[in-house]
Amino acid sequence: MNIRRVVLIRPFRDGRVWGRVPGSPYTLMRLASLVPADIPVEIWDENVGKPDYSTLGPEDLVGISSMTLTIERAEEIARLARRQGATVVVGGVHATLSPEHVATFADVVVIGEGYNTWPQIIEDFANDTLKPMYVDEEWKTLDDLAPISQRVLDMVQENRRYWTPYLEITRGCPRNCTFCTAIRVSGRVMRLRPVEQVVEEIQRRRIKRFFLTDDNFGLNFRIAPEYCEELFRALAKLPLHGWTCQSELIVADYPDLLKLAREAHLDKFFIGFESVNPGNRRELGGKSRGQAEQIREVVRKIHAAGISVVGLFVLGFDHDTVETFHAMWDFIRTSELDSVSITVLTPFPSTPFRTLLEQEGRLLDVPWRYYDTAHVTFIPKQMTVEELRQAYDWLCRRVYSPSQIARRGLRSLRRHPITRAYKKAFGAFSTDYGYRRAYSWRYAY
Ligand code: SF4
Repeated sequence: MNIRRVVLIRPFRDGRVWGRVPGSPYTLMRLASLVPADIPVEIWDENVGKPDYSTLGPEDLVGISSMTLTIERAEEIARLARRQGATVVVGGVHATLSPEHVATFADVVVIGEGYNTWPQIIEDFANDTLKPMYVDEEWKTLDDLAPISQRVLDMVQENRRYWTPYLEITRGCPRNCTFCTAIRVSGRVMRLRPVEQVVEEIQRRRIKRFFLTDDNFGLNFRIAPEYCEELFRALAKLPLHGWTCQSELIVADYPDLLKLAREAHLDKFFIGFESVNPGNRRELGGKSRGQAEQIREVVRKIHAAGISVVGLFVLGFDHDTVETFHAMWDFIRTSELDSVSITVLTPFPSTPFRTLLEQEGRLLDVPWRYYDTAHVTFIPKQMTVEELRQAYDWLCRRVYSPSQIARRGLRSLRRHPITRAYKKAFGAFSTDYGYRRAYSWRYAY
C-alpha cells in the first residue's frame, strides 16, 4: 500500500475558550513525531476547527486517540473515515480499558502505550499486513522517548492555538484507588524521563507554562527524591512563568523539596484529597485518611512554601450520604484552598469500582459521554440517584458561585508580591472558572 498520509484526530470536547483550546494535543504530537519523515502527517484537532472528512481516501491511515468521555464522537469519526475508504486505528484510554467495544467500529485497536506499536502499525499498513489489535503493556523505560519533531511543532502552533501546553515527566502510579484507571493506562511502576530530555523538550517547544499530565507526580517526593532535586535544579534555570502538577498529600512532608519546587517555578499542586469522610479511606489506596484536619495541615505547609493548592474531591462513595455534601461545603468554605474541583465518582471501565457495581447490579445504562465526572452514572449505596444528583448540584452552585470564585482567587493572589500579582491573576481565577465550566457541561446534553 502506498501511504498518501497519516491523519491523527482528537475528537471534539471543549472547543475554544476565549479563542484558544484549553490543552494541547500532547499524545498526538508525540505519535505524529514517530511518523517517518517521508510520509506526510497531519493533526486534526476538532476543538480547533471542523476538519473536512470528505478529503480522506483509501491511502490514508487515520489514528484516533480518545478517552471514554469522547468515545462516541470517536466512533462517529471512525465511521465517516471508513466510509471514505480510509483505514482507522483507535487507541488511547478507552481503547485500553474497553478494547472489545472499540473493536466494533475500528479496523485496528491499540491497547496500552502506542509509542512502540505505532511505528509498527504504520509499517504494517504499508505492507498490507495490519493486525486487528496491537498491545503494548510492558511499561518500557522512558529513556528513549522520541522527541517531538520540528515538523509537528510547526504544524500544531501550540503557543498560538492552546492556552496550556501539556508535558509528561513521569508516568505510572503504584496506588490502587478503586475508582482510578492509572494502573491500567500508565502502569504500576513509576517511570521517570531523564532530566536533560525534559529540559530539551521545554526549550525546543518554547513553552513558558505547562500542565504535567503525570497521574501522581507528587509521589516522587517520597520514592525518587534525588530525581526531584535534580529536576527542580534544572527547571529553576529556565525562564518559566510557572507550571502545575497533580499530586497527593505526602508532598507536604518534604519542606526542602517544596522549597526547591517553588524555585523551579512550580506554582500550583492539584492534590487528590478525594474525601472528607474517613469512612471512605479504604477506597483511597492509602494516600488519604479523609480527615479535614489532615487536609488543613497539608494546605498550610504547602502555602508556607509559596505554592498554591487546588483541592480535588470526589463524592458518591459507598459511605457518603447527603450529609457528606454538607460537611464538604462546611470544609471548603472554611478552608484556605486556592481552587476546588468537585466531581461525582465515576465507574470507568476496568476499575475495581466498576466490577463491584456490575456484581451488585448498580450500573446505570447511560451514554459514555456522561462519564465526565459531573453526571451520575450508577446507583449510590446510601442515596437515591436523584439525591446524589441534587446534592452535587447544590454543592456546585455554592462552590462555583461568582462570589466564592472571586474570594478564593483574591486570597490566592494575595500570596504573591504585588509586583507579580498581575502575572498570577489569570491562574488565580482560571482553574475555578474551568471547573465551573466543566460542571455546567452536564446541562449541554
Ligand atoms: S493516587 Fe491518584 S493516580 Fe494513583 S491510583 Fe490513586 S487516584 Fe489514581
